[in-house]
Amino acid sequence: MSQSYPPQYKPMPPITLRYNLLTDLETALRAHGITDIIAYLSKYGVRRGIAMFFGVDGIFGEDGSPARKYETVGGKTTSTIALSEPFISWVWICSYFLLVQRQQALNTTPVRSPLSPRALNTAAELKDYGETLFHNRVEWPAALPSPENVIDELRDIIEQSNALYLAAMQFILLHELGHAVLGHVAAQGPLNIEQEKEADDYAIDIWQSLAATATSGRQLHTLQQGACIAFLALVFIPAAMAPSSSYPPIEQRLDKLMHVFELVDNSIIWYMAAQCLQYWCAHKFQNTLEADPNVGTARDYYNAVQSHLSELVA
Ligand SMILES: [Zn+2]
Repeated sequence: MSQSYPPQYKPMPPITLRYNLLTDLETALRAHGITDIIAYLSKYGVRRGIAMFFGVDGIFGEDGSPARKYETVGGKTTSTIALSEPFISWVWICSYFLLVQRQQALNTTPVRSPLSPRALNTAAELKDYGETLFHNRVEWPAALPSPENVIDELRDIIEQSNALYLAAMQFILLHELGHAVLGHVAAQGPLNIEQEKEADDYAIDIWQSLAATATSGRQLHTLQQGACIAFLALVFIPAAMAPSSSYPPIEQRLDKLMHVFELVDNSIIWYMAAQCLQYWCAHKFQNTLEADPNVGTARDYYNAVQSHLSELVA
């Protein structure tokens, strides 16, 4: 059973995905009144090759922060936002995994689109594979879906994952751009919590302007879920299980974003976020939060998870 999607849902190979990511960001910033992305990025010391960097060591440093390369040219320190391939793959894998989980949740209500057992299996297998990327680089298994491997049976999910992935990466890049714009790149070493909050605020501000230009409810929903996945992808990273002092707590970063969305009470995004936080809590704190997704609205479920989590952390 095939559905038709707007053009941005067409399957795209990774190289095209990366290219589109940049052009999407350009379009977005133009809509925000920034007319020359190249000049804009270079003004702040961020190179256009932003998503084309292929690292061999993985994207995350020991503290779990994205890799940032510093260079001094003519006495001025600039930075390159270096999102390496393992991280790019990880965000796509999380988009796929969370989408399948979301579909599964939707299917508990009168069935809208049956989810094949293959979708469920591949989501779990993909996530397992993704976790190995943080230790070593292994070839993407040929049997698993990818932006390039559009398995017919999974076409709808893969195409939607591509769209979510683009939105998530856009939010991540806006956060990194925020560091550059706000002058955080001048300092060597890890950034502090205040700087991370400022970069989040910067990304959320621009994101809101982008959301205002969405031409359909569906596009807005994709942007919202994508931004959410930018944080939820961090929740699933093994390194996120360890305490990090240089970032605000993930649940607080996510919460700030969730309240910008103005979601309806039963939005699946509340559900998706709550489910992830529950999973994270079980793994990080070995604590199963007693929040029941079947009590009240999806917003109630999310609020219950957040309030249990804040009691736990306090
Ligand atoms: Zn940051």
